[in-house]
Amino acid sequence: MAIRSRLSHRTPLLLSTPGRIDYAMYFKELVSLFDELSAYSSRLKKAEIIAGFLTGASEDDIEIVCTFLTGRIFPAWDTRDIGVAGKTLVKVIANISGKSSEEVVESYRDTGHLGITAERLLGKKVAMSLAAFEEDLTVADLYRHFEELAAMTGKGSAQKKQRMLSRLLSRAAPREAYYVVSLATRNLLIGSKEGVTEDAIAQSFSVPADAVRRAWMLANDIGLVARIAKTEGLPGLQALNIEPMRPVRPMLAQNVAGATEALDVMGGRAAFETKYDGARIQVHKAGPEIKLFSRKMEDLTEALPDIRAAVSESVHADSLILDCEAIAVDRHTGKVIPFQNVLNRIRRKYRVRELSDQIPMQLRPFDILYSDGESLVDRPFVERRALLEKTVVPLDKRCTPSEFKILDDPEAVAAFFKQSIDAGHEGLMAKDLNADYSPGIRGRKMVKLKETLESLDLVVIAAEYGHGRKAGWITSYELAARDEVNEQWAPVGRVSGGVSDEQLRELTEQIKPLIVGEHGRMVDVEPQIVLEVKFNEIQKSPNYASGFALRFPRIVRIRDDKGPDDAETLERLDALYRLQFKLKEPAAT
Ligand code: AMP
Repeated sequence: MAIRSRLSHRTPLLLSTPGRIDYAMYFKELVSLFDELSAYSSRLKKAEIIAGFLTGASEDDIEIVCTFLTGRIFPAWDTRDIGVAGKTLVKVIANISGKSSEEVVESYRDTGHLGITAERLLGKKVAMSLAAFEEDLTVADLYRHFEELAAMTGKGSAQKKQRMLSRLLSRAAPREAYYVVSLATRNLLIGSKEGVTEDAIAQSFSVPADAVRRAWMLANDIGLVARIAKTEGLPGLQALNIEPMRPVRPMLAQNVAGATEALDVMGGRAAFETKYDGARIQVHKAGPEIKLFSRKMEDLTEALPDIRAAVSESVHADSLILDCEAIAVDRHTGKVIPFQNVLNRIRRKYRVRELSDQIPMQLRPFDILYSDGESLVDRPFVERRALLEKTVVPLDKRCTPSEFKILDDPEAVAAFFKQSIDAGHEGLMAKDLNADYSPGIRGRKMVKLKETLESLDLVVIAAEYGHGRKAGWITSYELAARDEVNEQWAPVGRVSGGVSDEQLRELTEQIKPLIVGEHGRMVDVEPQIVLEVKFNEIQKSPNYASGFALRFPRIVRIRDDKGPDDAETLERLDALYRLQFKLKEPAAT
């Protein structure tokens, strides 16, 4: 009963409100909670345990704990990253445990989880380390360390990070080290994703679960939601909403087989729009300040000065949030050019102007979520569209609302689809005219129609060096989908080829810092890189843990704009497996 006894070792910290004592929560208390959660698979039971834990905690601790519970260090909207590579952790663990890096990697190969390796090896660390005399780690201490790691950038930061992590992990007990490493590598396996944590917050602070879910969807910060639920209850939660400068999780689209299905899903009549082949960009404006965020919520403002300028010329609102697609065009003809150009622009950190002259980009706003102090997410899509057209008044093609038609006839949809493909776009999006905007939800309020069988966004979990001419390059990649039920990566096959030498070099450079173990030419890789792959068919297969295998997979592109959270789930693979039989019918009819 680790949970009940935790109050006994709490230390008074400060008297923030007269008569109320706040306690600093020790990290070991949170470790007991994590351990207890891992012992149960029932969501109900997990929520009940978390609810009990939150009841006695301070507001500050609650905010950190709830964010940690969802496997994150910082809120979802927060662009900070601690920037700690697997290799750095291997060195740190080697350092403290007195082992060589090779021995740490050997152990990692055995355990498959760097946290378990840390726990095992640090269990044997020299007892007389300085750390033995240090205070127990509190949750707030740990969070401060993470904040400092995120703030370390530039020259010499790798060494500084290594030193700080060494100090942190030598202070930690072995089980604490397991969880610190799990959080740092975003690999916390306790089954308390947002849903469970939301239910726990609702129970703990006696507020409706729906209100918690909605507040989280809009504020994009589960820690803040928990704090508000405790301090302000239901009225506070209801007041939480989207705000400029705090990126929102984008609403996602399901796939449909063709025009008829799209119209069926939407009740016979819908908005259809060109599906542009670019990168999703969220524009935030607050007074004169304009920021651009990627779908991974990175700040891209510096990389896209041309888009920022076009927005400031075309947008008529004091504050707003726009959901958009950004495309790259040929600077002479103005025609759309391949997505790879978009990625080059987004990644560029230096000599940005030069590249923006060579590869101009244009913005296609397709939704408006906030305008002049008001959240619009609850308004029907048609109303938002009308407001979008009033707010974005194009001076030229650099920033102009997406091409849009309201249609109810499959043949008209098929004609629009063909027109879109002929112009070099990806297909069409269909949108429910009456639907609200649901951040982060992949539902049927908006669906996509593409020409080919869906490509898949999968994560690289292992890779292999090539031989001969390609001996120094990583040329083959093991791909996985997210198994959300078991919270693990489920391999679906290997892919090699289909990429240019330049892309191979690029992938090799991206993968190298993520390598956590090597055996022969094979390397284990932290699951970070997303590849979009095409394939001929999804098959059922006993050879892979996922139960699926891709026939003839080939890489379409490196999806720098997507992160592991955007990768396909096994559930979706299953849906696509079934959908492919329907897709044998002619496209878009
Ligand atoms: P996918 O990335 O294949 O899941 O397709 C959905 C993506 O299409 C969205 O995340 C947007 O980035 C992109 N997109 C392109 N054009 C539009 C549009 N007119 N409306 C909505 N999304 C669009």
